[in-house]
Amino acid sequence: LTNDVLAAWDRESFFHPSTHLGQHARGEAPGRVMRTAEGVHVTDRDGVRLLDAFAGLYCVNVGYGRQEIAEAIAEQARELAYYHAYVGHGTEVSIRLAKMIMDRAPDHMARVYFGLGGSDANETNVKLVWHYNNLLGRPEKKKIVSRWRGYHGSGLMTGSLTGLKLFHERFDLPLAGVLHTEAPYFYRRANRSMDEAAFSAHCAAELEAMILREGPETVAAFIGEPALGTGGLVPPPEGYWAAIQAVLEKYDVLLIADEVVTGFGRLGAMWGSELYGMRPDLITIAKGLTSAYAPLSGSIVSRRMWDVLAKGTDEHGPIGHGWTYSAHPVSAAAGVANLELLDRLELIENVRAVGPTLIEGLRGALADHPNVGEIRGEGLLAALELVEDRGANGDAPVFFDPARKIGPAVAAAMLRRGVISRAMPQGDIIGFAPPFCLTAAQARTVVAATVEAVAEVLG
Ligand code: PLP
Repeated sequence: LTNDVLAAWDRESFFHPSTHLGQHARGEAPGRVMRTAEGVHVTDRDGVRLLDAFAGLYCVNVGYGRQEIAEAIAEQARELAYYHAYVGHGTEVSIRLAKMIMDRAPDHMARVYFGLGGSDANETNVKLVWHYNNLLGRPEKKKIVSRWRGYHGSGLMTGSLTGLKLFHERFDLPLAGVLHTEAPYFYRRANRSMDEAAFSAHCAAELEAMILREGPETVAAFIGEPALGTGGLVPPPEGYWAAIQAVLEKYDVLLIADEVVTGFGRLGAMWGSELYGMRPDLITIAKGLTSAYAPLSGSIVSRRMWDVLAKGTDEHGPIGHGWTYSAHPVSAAAGVANLELLDRLELIENVRAVGPTLIEGLRGALADHPNVGEIRGEGLLAALELVEDRGANGDAPVFFDPARKIGPAVAAAMLRRGVISRAMPQGDIIGFAPPFCLTAAQARTVVAATVEAVAEVLG
């Protein structure tokens, strides 16, 4: 196939996600077709080799080209490509993976329910929360609180939970019963006189006021990413989760930790929950579970919920919720091999070791640039936020007019230097989430490309 033929078929046949469709169909937004990958590098059909500092969509955590995972997938497909996991059935590999996940999960978690991607896992979470409250005889306790800028998926419920306007507009979302509270985004706080602890207390007070306004007897759960992901890559301000959890406990509201990005080591700890002292009732996992070698997700359920759900099935029969591909053996084989690699190669240790080379390297080179508002991160999740004016003497920063597309211009300039970053969809934020096998030298390459790109676009 020539590139021209492939491009024509692509334009004529392929309805891409998150794309400007008209531009794509007219050939004005030429795609890049990837062919091979190894470690942190991907190579396109023209032989252009790029350092992928966003690990696909922050998912190829163990790095590309891992033969152990490829072999495990192939062997499973040959031996038993599929059998379902409905009660009374299972496959050896999916049971092994469930055990490996639970061995790594916080002690108070009891079981894992498998899905395919992060979105459906969060759909499962909401249904389990509703089912739980129904079994407890309080069906009106149903509302779910999310945060502005949270990202939890693209389905009808999960797109509702997502706190980004693009996912609501023209879909009549959010669905009734989904509420959004303040994003824990200290850099963008409205009241500049607050320090981090005061801002965390303010977020918790906003949440409490919302729960009281709605009626605590109607609020079932709070969902949040330990560190905000797609909405800006923002670690929580000091004391945030402790303050939020105190409110949730007071009103008997469950906590769903969406660890689709942060689970399995992205922040340098196995769980973001663990790092920030969260005690979730449900944990959403996906991306890093298989490092995206095959689609798989999960909802890890706490003992307190499990006990009620299990007793409920004794009394009322099974839970009406199941996917054909739940615990798919080929994906489970990818998961087992992936988690083994994570341990054997000590990749989470490497996240802790190399993360500072990236984040401190960016700070060292760019902190004084007049258009660099904030450089933030944890482990191998980092962001560079660009602003028109940093604001002197505690004033609020002035953000660029989005129409200028400064973030995308910087990401494009990095790409010309051989480094893939991600211009995050909200604000001029350059995101970094490389594979965990990134070396210190590669981290310095990413920093150098960023510095040059910022200089090219902003001087
Ligand atoms: N939750 C979080 C925190 C995510 O970042 C994502 C995807 O980026 C999802 C859920 C949805 O996962 P998926 O795209 O696999 O449905």
